[in-house]
Amino acid sequence: MFAYRLTSRFVAASLARPVPPAVVRHDIRPYAAAAVGSEQPTWTRSTFPAPSSPNPATKLDASVYPRNANQVLRKAVAATTVRNDWTREEITAIYHEPLMELVYQASTVHRRFHNPADVQLCTLMNIKTGGCTEDCKYCAQSTRYQKGTGLEAKKTESVEAVLAAARAAKENGSTRFCMGAAWRDMRGRKSGLRNIAAMISGVRAMGMEVCVTLGMIDAAQARELKAAGLTAYNHNVDTSREFYPSVISTRTYDERLRTLGHVRDAGISVCSGGILGLGEKDEDRVGLLHTVSTLPAHPESFPVNALVPIKGTPLGNQKPIDFTDMLRTIAAARILMPATIVRIAAGRKTMPEEKQALCFMAGANAIFTGEKMLTTECNGYDEDKAMFERWGLEPMKSFEKSPKPAS
Ligand code: SF4
Repeated sequence: MFAYRLTSRFVAASLARPVPPAVVRHDIRPYAAAAVGSEQPTWTRSTFPAPSSPNPATKLDASVYPRNANQVLRKAVAATTVRNDWTREEITAIYHEPLMELVYQASTVHRRFHNPADVQLCTLMNIKTGGCTEDCKYCAQSTRYQKGTGLEAKKTESVEAVLAAARAAKENGSTRFCMGAAWRDMRGRKSGLRNIAAMISGVRAMGMEVCVTLGMIDAAQARELKAAGLTAYNHNVDTSREFYPSVISTRTYDERLRTLGHVRDAGISVCSGGILGLGEKDEDRVGLLHTVSTLPAHPESFPVNALVPIKGTPLGNQKPIDFTDMLRTIAAARILMPATIVRIAAGRKTMPEEKQALCFMAGANAIFTGEKMLTTECNGYDEDKAMFERWGLEPMKSFEKSPKPAS
């Protein structure tokens, strides 16, 4: 009887309530701005675990784990401005916080700087497949591993084919279109650059953000791309400076950083991230985070790739990265670079939806969507639309986070 009364009261109360919209959107930006300017979160002792309690799962040597680790996180989370003077020790401390705490704090920072419902949908097209002379050990497009991978080099796609793909991506909700070419650099590619400029201006005319990844570029090429209306240039540093030579020998870490400098100096947004699961250790993921978070300006976008091992490449039998390492990297990136777009890139296809949701909770706010990601499979448009519906996410509008270049 009691249960019946309770149920009928509950039903009556529910009927009296207005029906909520399917997706409740909270625009937190005005509050976020206020929080950044004035109001500070009040931390209680219980918010932070004792400094001597790093997650044993990280197996970090106690002598490396700074005694004041938790103070470091506290300071990082309370910060109201973007910092690019992080020390490796500070990043180590943040990275090794107990994972649930790290995710919670990253989520707090995320809400201060972004609308947590907004996730950028981005489509990546391979406009020049294969035939690359570099020796990146993970890559199917290197000529050095062609015998094993069987991947045939193709000609550069036509401007029309690229614009048709961009149009389809836009119709499916993507607001950023990325074009990748398997090139070491742009030397002697004058006509190639002209074609790419035409692709960039064509995609920009659709109102989309445009990113390209074409290998190393010099200052003049960066200015040319900027003049065509390019929004962002992707050039990943891949991993830590220390681990890098065991993955790539044909170009140096400093050459990568020089390209990022040319991109930045030309006024193009920098997209630079890493690949996890190359055989690196925790300290290399910390090193990667240190490199990008101490650049003269934080990258506008930080892609986090999980290696998709490709048969025939030297890393073809690599064991997949632990999800917790991926999550830890995303959460730490969100705290270190609060205004940056943190992008779940390669490897999402094998991630169940709940894991993706945890990444969004930890501060990831962009994904690649569409049929393919260069040479690997990608989650399709419909699959991502359905996931957004289920989790109350919405596609980010174009130029919501990156400055709109003058047309
Ligand atoms: S430079 Fe790019 S395309 Fe060339 S091998 Fe390395 S990752 Fe592959």
